Amino acid sequence: ATPTAIMVGTGLGAQRGVLFKNATALETSARIDTVVMDKTGTLTKGEPEVTDVVADGMSEDDLLALVAAVERESEHPLAGAIVRYAEDRGVASPPLTGFRSVPGQGAAADVAGRHVLVGNRKLMAAEGVEVAALLTRRDELAATGRTAVLVAVDGRGAGVIALADAVRPTSAAAVSALHDAGVEVVMLSGDNQATAARIAGQLGIDIVIAEVLPGDKATKVAELQEAGKRVAMVGDGVNDAPALAQADVGIAIGAGTDVAIDTADVVLMRSDPLDVSVALLIGRGTLRKMR
Ligand code: ADP
Ligand code: MG
Repeated sequence: ATPTAIMVGTGLGAQRGVLFKNATALETSARIDTVVMDKTGTLTKGEPEVTDVVADGMSEDDLLALVAAVERESEHPLAGAIVRYAEDRGVASPPLTGFRSVPGQGAAADVAGRHVLVGNRKLMAAEGVEVAALLTRRDELAATGRTAVLVAVDGRGAGVIALADAVRPTSAAAVSALHDAGVEVVMLSGDNQATAARIAGQLGIDIVIAEVLPGDKATKVAELQEAGKRVAMVGDGVNDAPALAQADVGIAIGAGTDVAIDTADVVLMRSDPLDVSVALLIGRGTLRKMR
């Protein structure tokens, strides 16, 4: 593109809070045919809140006390929400030993002489815990779009904690603007398939790749590229950074983590998913002016 076209495109973006880090980012944005969007913190606000506590074989408060003790040591956003909820209910959590975090799966520790696991089904399977009795409840909660985490105590299923994370007000409009521009939209999430599918349905997204381990997000982007797609990845988290780097254009949510912002080619300063289509359209405009 001519230096003038690049300057105009960059300036237009800046007015909208769409920051193109360099000329290549602007040019490549024009050719994107597939946008992959992270769910948590990108399409949703990334502010989960506990909505349901289901305890099996102990009181809800006893379950919460054990889980909150473990989650106090975890940096995951779900963990923070569970700790806050327990505090609001006045549940005190006992001291713990042997804390272990399993990325993309959950966490474990010994609390007051009991072994506590909190996380998804992969974690329970890896630890050899039978949770069949909890899955009906888990699936009911997930079908409403909530994130439902499983709890095991001393090797047996002990409960389910559900959390809701509101979608951003402009997420549905963002998806239809991309569809109008002839761009395919894919949701990529580490969350449960049913939860992701429900939220995708609400937003009009028809392709969902869920239950992806943090390290595998970049691989999923590469697979789309191998299939001939020109991919923009939109994300906010530490675990989105490799996928942002892999994509033809990496787009970070401005309110996201520093790693995501540093890795991305484009930053959405207003953290508005609607600005994804703005970025692509500015790219297209810049390319047209070159010809
Ligand atoms: P996402 O990409 O949706 O942000 P992650 O890859 O961080 O999700 O985690 C995937 C899943 O692993 C979560 O939906 C949850 O079920 C489970 N998980 C991970 N960390 C924790 C934790 N600290 N407490 C409870 N569950 C967890
Ligand atoms: Mg995220």
